[in-house]
Amino acid sequence: MKFSKRNKIQILFKTLSIFILFVSIKGGVMPADQFNKLNKEEKRVIIEKGTEAPFSGDLLNEKREGTFTCRQCGAALYYSASKFESHCGWPSFDDEIKGAVLRIPDADGRRTEIVCSNCKAHLGHVFLGEKFTEKDTRHCVNSISMDFIPEKLELEEKAVFAGGCFWGVEYYMQQINGVKSVVSGYTGGKSEAPTYEDVSYKNTGHYEAVEITYDPALVNFETLAKTFFEIHDPTQKNGQGPDIGKQYRSAVFYQDEEQKIITQKLINQLKDKGYKIATKILAPAAFYRAEEYHQDYYDNRGKLPYCHGYVKRF
Ligand SMILES: [Zn+2]
Repeated sequence: MKFSKRNKIQILFKTLSIFILFVSIKGGVMPADQFNKLNKEEKRVIIEKGTEAPFSGDLLNEKREGTFTCRQCGAALYYSASKFESHCGWPSFDDEIKGAVLRIPDADGRRTEIVCSNCKAHLGHVFLGEKFTEKDTRHCVNSISMDFIPEKLELEEKAVFAGGCFWGVEYYMQQINGVKSVVSGYTGGKSEAPTYEDVSYKNTGHYEAVEITYDPALVNFETLAKTFFEIHDPTQKNGQGPDIGKQYRSAVFYQDEEQKIITQKLINQLKDKGYKIATKILAPAAFYRAEEYHQDYYDNRGKLPYCHGYVKRF
């Protein structure tokens, strides 16, 4: 396929907006053009990978309950529950918030450097096998690379699935531990703020879908996606169950590259088992909340879904 210059610019914009979307859902994280300005000493450590003098940092003796965040981008890195006293002179943690810290071989060829996985700010080094705590891991972090917020920041991520009538998908997805909320709505089409009538009777291209907000510390996208594939029939092409129409087709609207890769992996697994999967993997699109009477439809009526049910497929 050949891309015109305009197409290339559009693709660049789309990639950029997906990245910003990804970053913005990771808690209090800021996009690259809004990173905190660093002073000279912060730059020396965070950008030039320097080390602050031992026993000099202002977070070394921070013992309150809370969250340690990246000085440069605001991403949550460590909870106070993982901080311990190592007497080495720098704040020490035996675990990071899932996905918050990247480990890379240090330029010195011996140690393992740790950086903020969002903005790549230098944090310090990680050491294993010192037997300080049960996790046998010490993240040795420069105070100057972090800020402290005296509260436990709740992390949230989003996932969007279309699997036929949204009442049924919502009913099952909201029962998963770690799911904070499920909203029924419309996505993937052309018109802005569509109504149920628009989606049902006009050719808007929208799907009935659910937007799930979940705590990544309690449940991961793979579990949500597997459940999605097991509570609807992902082989039906023209709709779902008795609901026939384009708005009832099966799709996963991935919110970041990781979700896209996991969805493709699960579809491949199902294909290997002989399923002819109709589910489309689609780029994230604006999500429009449906009318209030569509929210929590089955719970509010004390009924069970007519179009969805659990079938083990993995
Ligand atoms: Zn950062």
